[in-house]
Amino acid sequence: MKHIFGPVNSRRLGRSLGVDLFSEKVCNLNCVYCEVGPTVRLTCQRAEYVPTAGIIAEIDAFCRDRARLENVDVVTVTASGEPTLHSGFGTILAHLKKVAGKPIAVLTNGTTLGDARIRQELQQADIVIPSLDSALAAGFRKVDRPAACLDLAEIIEGLVRFSREYRGRLWLEILFVRGLNDSDEEVGALAGVIGRMRLERVQLNTVARPPLESFARPVSHRRLREIAARFRAIRPGLVVDLLAETPRDSEEQQQAGAEGGESLPARLVEIVHMVQRRPCTAADIDRTFQAGGPEKVEQLLEPLVRAGRISKRRHGDRIYYH
Ligand code: SF4
Repeated sequence: MKHIFGPVNSRRLGRSLGVDLFSEKVCNLNCVYCEVGPTVRLTCQRAEYVPTAGIIAEIDAFCRDRARLENVDVVTVTASGEPTLHSGFGTILAHLKKVAGKPIAVLTNGTTLGDARIRQELQQADIVIPSLDSALAAGFRKVDRPAACLDLAEIIEGLVRFSREYRGRLWLEILFVRGLNDSDEEVGALAGVIGRMRLERVQLNTVARPPLESFARPVSHRRLREIAARFRAIRPGLVVDLLAETPRDSEEQQQAGAEGGESLPARLVEIVHMVQRRPCTAADIDRTFQAGGPEKVEQLLEPLVRAGRISKRRHGDRIYYH
């Protein structure tokens, strides 16, 4: 399947089946931290970049296998780019609601919510996770490098409006890049927008995986905690999560992996698909495939690395497969 992947274990969504609406990266941003690679089509144009009927056929084929579907907690609509730029987005969401019988989550960069039609289509989702990395024009340009057709003030108004109309669960994700959007001024401007939105959670992230640009550096965990405290003070009950991995997380992953025992070789193709979509550590892969520990994953992947099928890249203190 070209457009269905997983399920993969997502820390925030559980066992998540991914639906990727594109074959190459179509986005209206070219974020410095992007894990997908450089934007191939930098555009605000909504179009049927991939035939909707082909994506629906893959969804139907997956959903016919009830045993596989049982293993899914949530279906996540995402893209190698911005999924709402696909003109079949609303049709695909409606179809998923009909055939999957699972909660539907959508990951979006939040830039298209000024469009009433897209806001309406998103009403079908159970969870919407838009991003907003900066509420200041300079920070937005530096971090997200938008297409010329985007206007930050309109994006913010679209986000605020959607938050007031939407009936499902809305989580705002903000990714901080050291020196680009982590100043007090940036955080204050973001707090101003959050204060206007009706939100369930704010999720803070940083550059935890190999980014598109090597100058995109993570902010410290301490700074993320300070920012979280600032946002929690906006109003009582606002949940602010830290998504970036900590050393403690990787220890837990290794422990969980050591308890697993399923044979990995038969799933090598699925692993290659997983690392094609985003860089993953051996511990990430083990968490999804329960391969018997990260060391076991490394052994299994080494021949693929030597053959040039996948590559290894260091980011911070971790090695990522891509
Ligand atoms: S919005 Fe997402 S897909 Fe588009 S460039 Fe940014 S990180 Fe990459």
